[in-house]
Amino acid sequence: MAKEFSEKLDVPEALTFDDVLLRPKESTVEPDESDMTTRVSANVKLNVPVLSAAMDTVTESGMAIAMARHGGLGVMHRNMDIDAMVAEIERVKRADELIIRDVVTASPDQTVREVDEMMEQEGVSGAPVVNDEGEVLGIISGTDIRPYLEVGDRDEVREAMTDEVITAPEDVEPREALELMYEHKIERVPLVDDQNRLMGLMTMAGILQRREFDNAARDENGHLRVGVAVGPFEAERASAADEAGADVLFIDCAHAHNQAVIESAREIKAEIDADIVVGNIGTREAARDVVDFADGVKVGIGPGSICTTRVVTGAGMPQITAVSQVADVASQHDVPVIADGGIRYSGDAIKAVAAGADAVMLGSYFAGTDEAPGRVITMQGKKYKQYRGMGSVGAMKSGGGERYMKDEQDDEDLVPEGVEAATPYKGTVESELRQLVGGMQSGMGYVGAGTIPEFKERSEFVRVSSAGQQESHPHDVVITDEAPNYSPDGN
Ligand code: 5GP
Repeated sequence: MAKEFSEKLDVPEALTFDDVLLRPKESTVEPDESDMTTRVSANVKLNVPVLSAAMDTVTESGMAIAMARHGGLGVMHRNMDIDAMVAEIERVKRADELIIRDVVTASPDQTVREVDEMMEQEGVSGAPVVNDEGEVLGIISGTDIRPYLEVGDRDEVREAMTDEVITAPEDVEPREALELMYEHKIERVPLVDDQNRLMGLMTMAGILQRREFDNAARDENGHLRVGVAVGPFEAERASAADEAGADVLFIDCAHAHNQAVIESAREIKAEIDADIVVGNIGTREAARDVVDFADGVKVGIGPGSICTTRVVTGAGMPQITAVSQVADVASQHDVPVIADGGIRYSGDAIKAVAAGADAVMLGSYFAGTDEAPGRVITMQGKKYKQYRGMGSVGAMKSGGGERYMKDEQDDEDLVPEGVEAATPYKGTVESELRQLVGGMQSGMGYVGAGTIPEFKERSEFVRVSSAGQQESHPHDVVITDEAPNYSPDGN
């Protein structure tokens, strides 16, 4: 006999962030010492379990560099052509490079004027002078050039350069290079092979910057880590991203539990070296269909702040339940889980981890920062930045429709699953991330866990009534000073 329709209403309950709280437990850990190390995929570890969303108002190279420097991971959006994406990946990989390989050089018979213009254009303040064989003859800097600009800007570089140049072998330790620079009061050391040919350059700024970001997410060559979104059917983009050095490719689909998507993702995985995270999914059945080949899974069907999927399509899965269902399956296969969307506060982020996530992805939380693309706008005296869903009309018109299985269509035919909005301007990613991670660590402290795996094991939820929810927020007061980590609407 066919199922009674009314039986469909014997439904399981699905919960989200505000429905639950972490049950406090006896603790001996100091929150700010909690170890936040985690994995986002089989081969990519992070010191901070946070990712910035693959959205065109959130993550391009500027955001990705900032996220990785502070221990997290930026996932760049795919509303750009493949060449632009490769250039963006290279920008992240070149940032904080200890040995600059692509050195800007001068030749001895260029004029001082030419070299001055070249250095200005390339954004460098000095350049090794090399002959046609690549041998280092000297070094020229702004200080050498300045006296000539007044009187002899047509003089040749060979006359203006410093020819007693301090060089070092290619395998010099950064510490030794720094000592050389201090000793000789110089800011850069050309690295040479045994025939004095230029192989690279180390700068004082580069070495000091590397020391400053000691928590950074770096690959085995010391370059910053970066993730990129690729469409489920974009094999060409995936290969290009892989070759350019992306560490993790995120198969970017609003509903990845689709056999064509899974098949294509599986084929892409077989062709590339980078890790592959498959998403988004929100049920244990979907997890079962991808854990045999995915290096990570991403969860979120409709929780995002700019997302209208649930109201437009009637489908979705409240995020705490979705994460827990996927994590049930993924943890059995040792596949990391990323909770994507809907996180407004640090408390939401750590609840997602308690539900089984290894890391969290945020869009609106970072969209208002300096490092997000787009400029600051002022409305009624307050500063904002644009933030739009990748399924909004504007983003789909810029090429983002495939995520929602919408091919290029006439504007009137587009069925958006997101909105275009503005979010309050917030300052730097660094300070936002510090608040987020600090709050997550405090949450771990309330549960008495010093590491993420321990926290996932030890944490328990209690269910919250709507009265309990009201009690959780500031109440019966008028807030007089804004807190750095709280506003009533989550911005
Ligand atoms: P947020 O952190 O702002 O709450 O959510 C960000 C996440 O929302 C993104 O990482 C992505 O998974 C999802 N998302 C981005 N744009 C859209 C959209 O237009 N529609 C839907 N359904 N989800 C979106």
